[in-house]
Amino acid sequence: MSPGVLKIGEVEVKAGESVTIDLPMASLYSHAPMSLPVQVIRGRRDGPSLFVSAALHGDEINGVEIIRRVLRLPLLKKLRGTLIAIPIVNVYGFVSRSRYLPDRRDLNRSFPGSDRGSMAARLAELFLTEIVDKCDYGIDLHTGAVHRDNLPQIRANLDDPATSRIAHAFHVPVLLNSNIRDGSLREVAAERGIPVLLYEAGEALRFDERSIRAGVKGIIGVMRVLGMLPAASRARKPAEPLVARASTWVRAGRSGILRMTSALGARVRRNEIIGVIADPFGQQELEVSANASGIIIGRTNLPLVNEGEAIFHIARFESAKVAEDTVEAFQADEIPVDPVLEEEPPIV
Ligand SMILES: [Zn+2]
Repeated sequence: MSPGVLKIGEVEVKAGESVTIDLPMASLYSHAPMSLPVQVIRGRRDGPSLFVSAALHGDEINGVEIIRRVLRLPLLKKLRGTLIAIPIVNVYGFVSRSRYLPDRRDLNRSFPGSDRGSMAARLAELFLTEIVDKCDYGIDLHTGAVHRDNLPQIRANLDDPATSRIAHAFHVPVLLNSNIRDGSLREVAAERGIPVLLYEAGEALRFDERSIRAGVKGIIGVMRVLGMLPAASRARKPAEPLVARASTWVRAGRSGILRMTSALGARVRRNEIIGVIADPFGQQELEVSANASGIIIGRTNLPLVNEGEAIFHIARFESAKVAEDTVEAFQADEIPVDPVLEEEPPIV
């Protein structure tokens, strides 16, 4: 992004300024006005523009806390370029604790949107023209759905070198290559030549400290590799992430009460038993086996399952010889403390 004036909505932001902007959007039918809250921080020195967004799905709140922590970092005084933070994109869903908009549409399937389209399409268009089009890179923060927990992971088009570079800089155990056409923010941004990472970690409507800390570290890692922040002084080489080209769901073979015997992040082999579904009397039990070799990157948290429900999500790797250490190292070191990031008291 070239230096000079950055204009978002009616507000001009100059180099060295930090400004909160409220972009007007459709009001509530109660008469209450609504706006999209945006924080813009411009360094004095020139550099790339990065947006970081959360709660496109209104009930996915981990990212809101991730952005709060990033914005409080004293390290941002050294910022080059521009950071645009949008902690709550789907304000309507956030207020009603729902993934969707009041028109029951999924914002992350409504891009590029239109200013004459549905409620979701209008918000998508506003976000695209006011935020995405003014950035060089983006990071979109998500969690699993309600009652579903995700291992910290990045989903991105890893075949694109610029995207792959920032994906590796995020330092999570698993990168999932995905390049699907789904009307998502990530897809539409990519079409405009703006690499966007999707960070998935934790569960909807919950704070997960590990996912939050990994997210903060990841964003700072990306900003460092882009030259927006100085390189880490203590260069400790993190474990290489595992790159998955595909993933698969394991579904409940019957309805019943599920006991899971494999944790998030566990490495599993095809046909390995990873859980048991029983009736309440314990008379009939059905073993749940992995339908592929790989790593468990998502699973249900609810032991009550209906036949056909997805209960485990397994990332598959091209090489059968998966580097076993990666996920274990990530968990064992509990995300190494970076002295510059001034760790906050953990949420427990
Ligand atoms: Zn989401």
